[in-house]
Amino acid sequence: MPEWVHYGAMRVLVVEDERRMAAALKRGLQAEGFAVDLAHDGVEGLHLARVGEYDIVVLDIMLPRLSGYNVCKQLRAEENWVPVLMLSAKDGEYDMADGLDLGADDYLTKPFSYVVLVARLRALLRRGGGRRPAVLRAGDLSLDPARRQVTRGDASIELTPREFALLEYLMRRHDEVVSKTEILEHVWDTYDTDPNVVEVYVGYLRRKIDVPFGRSALQTVRGAGYRLVSDGG
Ligand code: CA
Repeated sequence: MPEWVHYGAMRVLVVEDERRMAAALKRGLQAEGFAVDLAHDGVEGLHLARVGEYDIVVLDIMLPRLSGYNVCKQLRAEENWVPVLMLSAKDGEYDMADGLDLGADDYLTKPFSYVVLVARLRALLRRGGGRRPAVLRAGDLSLDPARRQVTRGDASIELTPREFALLEYLMRRHDEVVSKTEILEHVWDTYDTDPNVVEVYVGYLRRKIDVPFGRSALQTVRGAGYRLVSDGG
């Protein structure tokens, strides 16, 4: 299995030199529960894509220092298969076929809507080699990333985007002990977040997925982190 494959909630690298556009993308994707990092030129983007273990890369084509085409080409030459969605300018100066030939997985022309972008990203993530089941299950708890639905048995559970991302990550690694650091890295943007926030959100989740059902599936493992057990506790 390539190194970048893991079962975390979605971590996205956005490589886009237009800062307002990049900031808007970051806000939009964060609102959908993704953890987002930004790079503003091709060299920085390539570096982060190499070291950052992203689930997906959104890559503008026209970038300073190194074009999106070359970033993608270089990653593939290094056998880095992180899914890449390329963004092109609206003038259509660059051909879709070029990007796909160089190893991009999908392609979107500016301007685009967030709804379309997010749908495409989720489709790409699902396609990721069949390693990601469309619907995640842990006992009678199920989470559908595409429909953004969570159920326990027949009961539907409403979660905020952050709670959803946290549960998604825990479900992808169910029955494993997951550290706070790992959770922060995959569900939050690491740099500016207090680790105690994880504890707070674990509490919120318990009140939604466990307490009303008399379960204790989301366990605290002292000194190590958390574990979501699939037998429902
Ligand atoms: Ca650009």
